[in-house]
Amino acid sequence: MTALLLCCTGLSITAPPARPWRGLHISVGSPEAADDLKRLVVDVLAPMGINTVIAEVNYSFQFQSHPELSNGTLTAEAAADLAATCEGEGVRLIPLFNCLGHQSWADVTFPLLAKHPEFDETPQIPLDNPGIYCRSWCPQHPQVNTVVFELIDEILSAFHADAFHVGMDEVFLIASDQCPRCRGGDPAALFAQTTNDLHEFLVKRRGVEMLMWGDRLLDAATTGYGQWEASANGTAAAIDRIPKDIIICDWHYEPMADYPSVRYFQEQGFRVWPATWNKVEAAEALLECALRDPTDRMMGYLFTGWGVNSPDLRDRLQGRTTGKDCPVADVILACLPRLNANAL
Ligand SMILES: [Zn+2]
Repeated sequence: MTALLLCCTGLSITAPPARPWRGLHISVGSPEAADDLKRLVVDVLAPMGINTVIAEVNYSFQFQSHPELSNGTLTAEAAADLAATCEGEGVRLIPLFNCLGHQSWADVTFPLLAKHPEFDETPQIPLDNPGIYCRSWCPQHPQVNTVVFELIDEILSAFHADAFHVGMDEVFLIASDQCPRCRGGDPAALFAQTTNDLHEFLVKRRGVEMLMWGDRLLDAATTGYGQWEASANGTAAAIDRIPKDIIICDWHYEPMADYPSVRYFQEQGFRVWPATWNKVEAAEALLECALRDPTDRMMGYLFTGWGVNSPDLRDRLQGRTTGKDCPVADVILACLPRLNANAL
């Protein structure tokens, strides 16, 4: 009824979530990691009401269409087995593949640009990446989408996914002078182009929901955020050029008095999923902001698990002291009572 009313009044084209999305983001790069995540889901996450898992896959999947673009051991069988376990537990499993940016880490360039240097936005930078954060692919190379969409199709199929997270965070290298197609271009237009290409493929052609990180859609100058969690490189205006049915994962990991983007994305017509990480004070502050005047576009709350593994998280969430720090578990345990009390 709510969805129908909203459609009829023209306020929204998307229904609010039937239940809040209470999520965990975690990397899954091998069959062993998939097995560990299964145990985490069954033993801890599902019983405590975490109903969505973002599984970051990237190039660790063993692609059949492009075996040369795999740098890991995660098989389609292991992904399907994980998906079946999640479905049986009532947990929605959403795979993540970093698009556009994050094509390298430290001195390692990931397979797409290592094997296809013609797709590289900054081809003059050596492949051990001196002086940069992460490489990007070129939004305008005429063949890049053909290859990437084949990779995404395999991941969608293996994970039996009805939603897909495209990453798109921290894209610093865009409209580079090194790219013959993009030099002198508008970063916002180029960022929007990739977003729209992915939306056309995922939402219109494959019929799945699309999620992305929100930082490049925020203006660092007007929001007060730093240049990591908001854009100081000209991409923020892309927010006016992309479809409103994309779910925006609005990540902020530092304590702040306010997080204006939580309201901003909702006001702009997007569903927003606030995301935290490893600091209890920041997680509680962002959660308070999410609970303040939410609209039907507030999705829930997302815990990111950068650097954490399932066994450590399982141990700590089950109350075992292992001698290891696990701040992500501390954050989840600190926030759960407030989430439960507010049905978020
Ligand atoms: Zn380019």
